[in-house]
Amino acid sequence: MRITRVLCAVLILAGASTSAQAKLRVVASLQDLASIADTIGGDRVETFALARGYQDPHFVDAKPSFILKLSRADLLIVAGLELEIGYLPPLIDQSRNEKIHPGSPGYLDASIGCDILQRPTQVVTRAMGDVHPYGNPHYWTDPENGRVIARAVASKLSELDPAGKATYEASLGAFEAKLTAKEKEWQAMMSPFSGTKIVTFHESWPNFAKYFHLDIIGTVEPKPGIPPSPSHTLEIINLITAEKVRAILVEPYFDAKTPNYIGDKTGAVVITFYPSVGGIPEIKDYLDVFDHNVSAFVSAMRGKK
Ligand SMILES: [Zn+2]
Repeated sequence: MRITRVLCAVLILAGASTSAQAKLRVVASLQDLASIADTIGGDRVETFALARGYQDPHFVDAKPSFILKLSRADLLIVAGLELEIGYLPPLIDQSRNEKIHPGSPGYLDASIGCDILQRPTQVVTRAMGDVHPYGNPHYWTDPENGRVIARAVASKLSELDPAGKATYEASLGAFEAKLTAKEKEWQAMMSPFSGTKIVTFHESWPNFAKYFHLDIIGTVEPKPGIPPSPSHTLEIINLITAEKVRAILVEPYFDAKTPNYIGDKTGAVVITFYPSVGGIPEIKDYLDVFDHNVSAFVSAMRGKK
């Protein structure tokens, strides 16, 4: 009995260490980045995302379990542009994992090479509470940036695990082909609404709007990260009325009270827009984010006379 138990424990440990050695451990700040790493890495990687898709990615509760994940990670993928500034730097320090420190080979800033909007033209100050000081960190809402991220992930995985290079390159090719086909579908669905004026809760969508030719004319937040105020809400109501804005996009983690109030006053339709994988269970991978939001937008516009 005792021997059996010991044997079992040894077997379990042996099995765990074999599979652990075989897989690269990837931690990503966002489920979107983890999804892309899963798609490219397949069976050769094991991914974990810190922020869940239904959470505000600026404000993530740092759980002790994150430190353990980071301490064992071979690769950390971040959105960068200070999206994770509020919680990640102390976790990286506490993980005591030199491999994933900024500047180390196991640290990948996914923003590099992407089309980043709203870059500051003046000296950066956080005095106004703006949480986008170095440009817009929600850039993965442009599917072409997703392509750039996937290429960077494939290249990084190949660097860390040269034996898997052919696999990563094949997965990248398959992902890009699927993305290209999907982009044609999404563009066909969205093209009738080109130029549509919208308001968004947070500045999560400038990349999405640029890609699909939507015109964001204002935000419910006075500045990124600053909650709605009565005076700004009144300004937005006046703007929506004057500009005949048709839709207000609201991320799932914001209180819909103010957007609903604005919608009631103006007739603009309030649409829940999901920036990330995992925002709802049906959004399982990076391409699903666009499938879902494009369908939601088109349905809302068609429903409006
Ligand atoms: Zn933001």
